[in-house]
Amino acid sequence: MSSAPSETITEIFPAELQHVVRENQPLRETLWLGIGGPARFLAEPVEIEQIEKLYAVAREKGLALRVLGQGSNVLVREAGFDGLVITLASPATSNLEIQGQKLVAGAGAKLTHAVIKTVGEGLGGLEHLIGIPGSIGAAVVGNVSAEGRDIGSVVESIEIIDEEGKRKTISGEEAGFAHRQSTLMGTVVLSVTFSLEPKEVSALTKRMQKLWIHRGQRRPSESNRIAMPFIDPDTTSVSELINSTGLAGVREGDVSLDSNAPHYLIAHENATSEQCVKLIGRVREQVLMQTGIDLQLNLQIW
Ligand SMILES: Cc1cc2nc3c(=O)[nH]c(=O)nc-3n(C[C@H](O)[C@H](O)[C@H](O)COP(=O)(O)OP(=O)(O)OC[C@H]3O[C@@H](n4cnc5c(N)ncnc54)[C@H](O)[C@@H]3O)c2cc1C
Repeated sequence: MSSAPSETITEIFPAELQHVVRENQPLRETLWLGIGGPARFLAEPVEIEQIEKLYAVAREKGLALRVLGQGSNVLVREAGFDGLVITLASPATSNLEIQGQKLVAGAGAKLTHAVIKTVGEGLGGLEHLIGIPGSIGAAVVGNVSAEGRDIGSVVESIEIIDEEGKRKTISGEEAGFAHRQSTLMGTVVLSVTFSLEPKEVSALTKRMQKLWIHRGQRRPSESNRIAMPFIDPDTTSVSELINSTGLAGVREGDVSLDSNAPHYLIAHENATSEQCVKLIGRVREQVLMQTGIDLQLNLQIW
């Protein structure tokens, strides 16, 4: 049960947290799709201890809690999110530090920055993920993958606040990495230690640049307001499925699937979250009917 809507910041949050929390905050500027309503509370903590305290308050007050990374994989409904959203963009949670053959990355750091840093240090293992939007935290929670290799394969350990509100470090194995998933959803990822392999800087750089260009070329050119709504099933790709079912370019109001790269959803000028949800539902239904494959959602709908 969520805390009473009439309760204000000062009634819910202790004085020591009130300067990092704001009420009724728009999220759309942070989201790639650029649509959707506000968060009832938005917190931008600058210390790890504040995150722990925010988590404890949310639990105690029955407030739904979500962590927002770079917003490339979240759709917020028009009604907004009735709970507490925490961002991890402060230096305390977005630092990148090389320690020998390891990278210790704050959850709020950008994945692409981590890739560039490790490649520059001659450390291989992340270079194939160049150009995938988003933060380290979300990348690990969703076990992002590219070129047939997922990020979980190089994760040594993860510092989290678990669902009981306890701060602890777990091993990569304990995170239960599987195809585009982990058991970390519902926790707050604070930092991740990657175990990498020494490689030639020039070879790594070449591979990274090639993939970066290739990835950029495959994106829809008409808009940056895009999302990748579905996870590739084990046996085929979302693009192939959508092409084979004649759904490339399908439109619902001001939202469509791209005609050339139909695994991308595009939010056009007057797009709404409701239209996105409807289009996703229609595509899932049609694909299921025509192929028997139940497409799993990548996009998180709040
Ligand atoms: C153009 C484009 C290309 C993409 N290409 C790929 C690709 O090649 N491969 C691939 O796998 N994905 C791809 N994606 C999907 C997307 O990049 C990933 O899902 C990415 O990890 C999202 O990161 P984010 O920081 O934007 O997450 P957000 O959208 O901010 O959040 C996504 C989810 O992660 C949770 N989360 C975020 N941070 C934390 C944290 N610290 N602790 C706990 N939970 C957290 C959020 O609560 C939410 O549920 C692509 C998306 C786009 C738009």
